[in-house]
Amino acid sequence: MPNMSSRTKAIPLSGIREMMDLALATPGVLRLEIGDPDFRTPDAITAAACAWAAENRMSYPPNSGLPELRAAAARKVSRVNGFACEAANVNVTIGATGALYLALLAAIEPGDEVLVPDPGWAGYPAMVALAGGVFKAYPLRAENGFRLDFDDVAPLVGPRTRAIIVNSPSNPTGAVNDAAELRKLIAHADRHGVWVIADECYDEVVFDGTSACVGTLAPLEGSPVLSAFSLSKTYAMTGWRVGYLVAPKDISAQVTRMQAASVASAAVIAQRAALAALEGPQDASAAMIVAYRRRRDVATALLDAAAIPYIRPQGAMYVFVDIRAAGLSSRDFALTLLREKAVCTTPGDAFGTNGEGFVRVSLACADADLAEGLSRLGQFVAARR
Ligand code: PLP
Repeated sequence: MPNMSSRTKAIPLSGIREMMDLALATPGVLRLEIGDPDFRTPDAITAAACAWAAENRMSYPPNSGLPELRAAAARKVSRVNGFACEAANVNVTIGATGALYLALLAAIEPGDEVLVPDPGWAGYPAMVALAGGVFKAYPLRAENGFRLDFDDVAPLVGPRTRAIIVNSPSNPTGAVNDAAELRKLIAHADRHGVWVIADECYDEVVFDGTSACVGTLAPLEGSPVLSAFSLSKTYAMTGWRVGYLVAPKDISAQVTRMQAASVASAAVIAQRAALAALEGPQDASAAMIVAYRRRRDVATALLDAAAIPYIRPQGAMYVFVDIRAAGLSSRDFALTLLREKAVCTTPGDAFGTNGEGFVRVSLACADADLAEGLSRLGQFVAARR
């Protein structure tokens, strides 16, 4: 049998998948490990897609996305994210995953180094490897609330570094980066010919104040910033698979060619749904964000009552809980909690070595499951103190 490519073998295994498989095999388990909204896609969005399908207008969309959706995404970026953007800056992609992967393909040569946050979304190392790059973790420190500190990242930028991925609000910590640190990072990256790839997947899931969208910190044309957006979390549309990449116009045109060569486009029906999401009433999405905030408050009150420390999330859909008092590694903690208390969490080390000592609890579950799961987690820690 022929050999598999080295690219295939370079993709690291996900520690998240292991917990999900165990949860599925455990009857009655409380699922606090999930990163998928428990809400339905708002009916108006689904209805728009169904109406389009009923008219049987299912031909190929342009590789860059439907023109009206690119224009709607550009309007949304200008209105919500606060920086001027035109349809020609936008490629509609298969989720933020598609946008991030195309951004990497546009940014790096095989063997180039990409700095990724640690702890950070487990998808980054895998997609850097798939794009032929080499990932190098940059530390986010618990004592700094897991916010990016320019002084921790800058020394890691070397001659082979070609891109830095930043994510705020963060999965898994819910941390929101400071604009001043990001500004320094963009200037440093620009001086060294390095791209800044901003993962804005949770741009609208913000609880207190605002999150500094990286695109607001540099002019779009001629800047090193490539911004990946998603409809997955804002509109409970994970399975529709729509996102978009915002880039300078000349890069955008190249990205369209890469999309043509790889997947052709996002599905037309999903793009119609996305158009209804961006241009329609925003009340259903706003209600979901209110629910995540309420769950954040419920979860942190329960953790406070149990005297368990955590990182107070400013956005996204997770609480990063400090379990060091239990005296177990994050993996052993998560596996034993699942076995003894039927509560599934994600061990912090699945997000990088700096996630050790923490587990991620998702807010994307029913309020009652969250409360019961955290109460069992509290008993579990108390028994080990
Ligand atoms: N980036 C982060 C930080 C995520 O947490 C996720 C999904 O959980 C993604 C990207 C992928 O999002 P999408 O569904 O838009 O591909």
